[in-house]
Amino acid sequence: MIPNVPKPASQLRLAGLEEESIVDGPGLRFVVFTQGCRNNCKGCQNPHTHSYSGGTVYEVEDLLSRYATNPLLSGMTFSGGEPFDQALALCTLADGVHSLGGDVVCYTGYTFEHILDLVHDEGPDSPRAALLDKADILIDGPYVEALRDLDLLFRGSSNQRILDRKARAEIAATLR
Ligand code: SF4
Repeated sequence: MIPNVPKPASQLRLAGLEEESIVDGPGLRFVVFTQGCRNNCKGCQNPHTHSYSGGTVYEVEDLLSRYATNPLLSGMTFSGGEPFDQALALCTLADGVHSLGGDVVCYTGYTFEHILDLVHDEGPDSPRAALLDKADILIDGPYVEALRDLDLLFRGSSNQRILDRKARAEIAATLR
């Protein structure tokens, strides 16, 4: 069973922040790196993000205040660690970003199909279901060292996919 780390909707445990990035999605982006991941991808570049008790706890309101001060930002990116293990607070953050006119990119070490399985078990009102719905772009799949490709846009290995809402709907339709 993959954990969905319980946290207040108002707080996130983060490994770090990048307030201006051009490599984590389209445009200039504010990036939050969530703390905690059990995917154990061989060759992971961020092993310090794996512990669920490490990192620093941030208030979602504080993150939104920082985000709102930079008018050049296109949106916010949720990276990790595993964002889908802190889905509840990330939903609050995504709502705030959307209300400020930005878009949301969410990375995950899970495949989209696996998240659909989780959501099937957890229910349509679960935090993971909500986060899936709020992500304008999902970049999915574990990092696979054997498929590492430094030329890929926004990804580390060629199994990972950039899935907008339309692409996700098309995949989901094939699974019915
Ligand atoms: S999902 Fe990301 S953080 Fe987690 S082990 Fe894989 S590469 Fe590392």
